Amino acid sequence: MRRSICYRALLLACWAILAAGCSDDDQGGAPRAIVPTTETIYGWIEEVFEQGVRRPGYPADDWAIEWTRDHFVAMGLEQVTLHPIDVERWQPLSWSLEVWHPDTPADVVTIPSYAMPFSADVEALDGELVLATEDETTELDGAIAVVENQIIDLPQLATRAFATWEYDPSGELQTHVQTLPFSASFNQPMEPYVEAGAIGFIGILRGFPWDTDRYYVPYDAEERPIPGLWLSSSNGDRLLQIIEQGPTRGRIVLRRELETVRSYNVTGVLPGAGDDWVIIGSHHDGPWASAVEDASGIALVLAQAQYWASVPREQRPHNLMFLLNGGHMAGGAGLRSFVANNRDLIAEDVVVEIHLEHAAREARGVDGELVPTDAPEVRWWFTSFIPDLEQAVADTICRRDLIRSFIMPPEGFPPGSSNPPTDAAFFHPLSPIVSFLTAPMYLFDEQDTLDKIHQPSLVPLTLATIDIVEALRDQTAASLRAQIYQPPRATPLDCTPEEDPQ
Ligand SMILES: [Zn+2]
Repeated sequence: MRRSICYRALLLACWAILAAGCSDDDQGGAPRAIVPTTETIYGWIEEVFEQGVRRPGYPADDWAIEWTRDHFVAMGLEQVTLHPIDVERWQPLSWSLEVWHPDTPADVVTIPSYAMPFSADVEALDGELVLATEDETTELDGAIAVVENQIIDLPQLATRAFATWEYDPSGELQTHVQTLPFSASFNQPMEPYVEAGAIGFIGILRGFPWDTDRYYVPYDAEERPIPGLWLSSSNGDRLLQIIEQGPTRGRIVLRRELETVRSYNVTGVLPGAGDDWVIIGSHHDGPWASAVEDASGIALVLAQAQYWASVPREQRPHNLMFLLNGGHMAGGAGLRSFVANNRDLIAEDVVVEIHLEHAAREARGVDGELVPTDAPEVRWWFTSFIPDLEQAVADTICRRDLIRSFIMPPEGFPPGSSNPPTDAAFFHPLSPIVSFLTAPMYLFDEQDTLDKIHQPSLVPLTLATIDIVEALRDQTAASLRAQIYQPPRATPLDCTPEEDPQ
């Protein structure tokens, strides 16, 4: 076994040397460090995507763990380690929805649906279908709740109200509206109806500009007491028409497996100058084959590993740890475990934790189809309230012309939250963070395919991450923490895209 791993690593090392090349971007005289090309980074995304559905505990996710471990080894990282974590593995086996009017019980209509993750397993559940909203949930005792789950359209003027700073040279964000992958109930679509006594839940997906029921929400790994099904908007219309005709009963079948299985976080290290650390991470699992969520994050972390491995140790600004955590789609299991096991290091010795999620292409609905556009999805950079850190992020956003960028606060978005809605959540406030994330509407859908990758962003995002690490060369874990302020900033933030980066 060990021999085969070493052999694979050797092959990968040969491949890495052949595949790597300098990007077109001017490196400002940096000493022959290797920035992977768009083709290399996209090639990693393709390879991960092609393994199939990468949910926690699925074979494709297990493959991704070994694959990233082998790449870390081949790139020359040290202390490459698989850290065991427990994840809830959810797999739907069969599901269906049948409805009928009680006065014509032989006239049964089957409506297509998809099983709601982490909802209850039932062989067959009969009940009256009752339309419900979050404000009117009192009449649900013993009923199956039928709920319209309205996806959020977020005007960027609203995002701007939260943002610390933005980079929008064309001024398009003034009128831009982004469709998010969530409704206002986020990861708790059925909870109010469970509380009101519902025995089953049917959620109609409203607001996506294409017809889909393949919606992997919730993903908090909390086992629900009742079964749930997602309906596409058109199938929801069919159901509502039937209900309008008179009292309606339904039968939900939902057979699924839910078991605790072993998964792993993957880490590797490149020692640098000094005693402090920079952590660069993403997650290796996803809801489907998921090109954006987060094969793209895996590839962006690999790009960092390859780049910094090509920089001589004494020229690396800090010790570098590369992290690909598991169980993102199972309640953030890997992230929780990593932070719990490394709390002192994160709280005291980490200069910054940089998380890279979702090199996404914006998509639009065209005649009921989801079509990628040429534009990147709106970019959020959740950044700790630290002037030098914010400045480093703003500078590189300008330098790399990362349009549609908002520097976002590490807390308060969405309103009331004490962490960013990203995989960096548990690093804040222990350590300074820069958490790059986009939230395209297809993020939890089967439609997150390779055409959704915004290839023109792959190298600029890689260079931006390098810029941020370089900008912190003269900082320490202590010096950044000493600058933490409570908003608002004393002076407005702006970028200073002066000389080429070193
Ligand atoms: Zn992600």
